[in-house]
Order: sequence, then C-alpha cells, then structure tokens
Amino acid sequence: MPHSTLTIGSVEISVLHDSEVALPFSATFPDVPPEAWAPYLERFPEAYSGSDKMRIHFECYLVRSQGRTLLIDTGLGNSSSNPNVVANIGGGIDGVLLAELQAAGFQAGDIDTVFLTHLHPDHVGWNVTRNGDDESPTFPNARYVAHEADWAAFETPLDSEIFGYDWWAETVAPLRRLGVLDLISGETELTGELTVVPTPGHTPGSMSMIVNSGGERAFIMGDVFHGPAQVTETDWVFHYDMDPDQAGLTRRGMLDRAESENAAIAICHHSGFGRVVRESGRRYWQAL
Ligand SMILES: [Zn+2]
Ligand SMILES: [Zn+2]
Repeated sequence: MPHSTLTIGSVEISVLHDSEVALPFSATFPDVPPEAWAPYLERFPEAYSGSDKMRIHFECYLVRSQGRTLLIDTGLGNSSSNPNVVANIGGGIDGVLLAELQAAGFQAGDIDTVFLTHLHPDHVGWNVTRNGDDESPTFPNARYVAHEADWAAFETPLDSEIFGYDWWAETVAPLRRLGVLDLISGETELTGELTVVPTPGHTPGSMSMIVNSGGERAFIMGDVFHGPAQVTETDWVFHYDMDPDQAGLTRRGMLDRAESENAAIAICHHSGFGRVVRESGRRYWQAL
C-alpha cells in the first residue's frame, strides 16, 4: 500500500501501514446502537466494511525532524515478533511495516527513536525480532520511548491478560532486558519541533505527539480516537478504553486544541490525515 506524506513546516510525516482488519461494531463500540452509525457509514464509507464493521488500520508513522528519524508505534508485527496478537487480532496475516519503511527509502537501522503512543498489543508488534532464542531490537539504533504509567499498568501478567493472551513477554518486556527502553512520566521534547504529551484514558500512559514547525501543527494521537465518527461522537466508548470518562475528557480536550490551532490530526486505526471542521455546530473529521 502506498504511503502518504504530510509536511508540517520542515517536518515530514509519512504513514507506514502495517496491517488492517474488519471488526464488528458490536465488538468495538458495544454500547452504541447499530442505527447510530448510519450517518457515518454514509459520510466515511472508506472507514467501514459493509454496514456493521469498522475497517481497523494499524498505522505507524515515520517522522523526520531536524536530522532525526523517528517511528511512532510498531503495529501488529508478524507471526514471529508478536505471534499471539497476529493470530488473534491480525487474522494470522503478517504486518508489512518493514516493507513500507523500505518503500519510503529507509532501513530499520535509520530509526533513532521509536515513540510508543501506548503499550497495547497492536502498537508494539515489531518492537523485537526473534531468531530462535535470540532476541534483538528490530530498530537496532533506536531508543524506545514510552510512558511509565503503561509499563506499570501492564507489566503484571494478570493485567496483560485483558486481551486473553500475553503480548507483554514477547514485545515489551524484552526492551528493558535489551537496555533500549526510556520510560518517561510527562510532557517530553523529542526534538525542537516534536513534543509528546500525556493523553490518558484509553490507557493510563497514552501519549500523543505534537508537531510544531514553521507556524503549522499536527497531532498524532494514537488511540485517543477510534475512527472518524468519534470526532463527532466524543462520548462513544471504545471497548478497550481503560478509563472511559478520562478518555472522553482527553478526546474533547484534543479536539478543542486541534480546532483552535488548526492542526492536522492522525489516529493510528484510521488511514491518512484529517482536520477538524464544523458543520451546523457539530465537529467532524475531514480527510486531508
Ligand atoms: Zn490501544
Ligand atoms: Zn490500538
């Protein structure tokens, strides 16, 4: 799949697609009545499969800023790097992040920072490459950056089993053993143009990247939103939001900010970039 690139001042952001699945509304937004989807099925046909499923993309982003090369999230991975998750969420199909990275003209060794928006199983899949008992960072020259609240939330086996399988041992725990993990606890500047900020609710340590260059802004927001409909329906609760009330507060806060700063926005499970627009007093995702 071709990647799309957005330029914000002197920062280049490219979507790197890893995988895609179709999941029923009943599994993703179980409390939303089926008929409430109708206006969004009409407005955003590309976001849905049939009349009752979301097309869930697993997107990562390559960000180039001030001589640095960063990757946001590492997707689902493949049947060796994240076996249970690829089998259970990914339909047994290997992700293609590394091929997308190559198609964009980069190698794994070019990445100097991997920023993980949060530590859910579908955002950490390519963290580690396994060869028999040998494990190594897939991005060998990178520091991996994540919020310490997610490390605390998921490191015990009990909590990491909320999805029904243990991804932690395969994709996240090795980062610390390998000495490549930097846990952060709040707003952190990654370059003079890139700052990551806490956007909690979906998980306690969820973070978003604020890109600010040449008077332009973009917000890369991980799982703050699950699909374009939630830009309008900010109260709709995604099944895996750990603190739904806080997730709603964060969504509305980021929308206010995106609207007032005229920022481009991106979310990991929907393809491409968007902007917040208003129609008849309601806010909508508009694709760029
Ligand atoms: Zn998530
Ligand atoms: Zn996710």
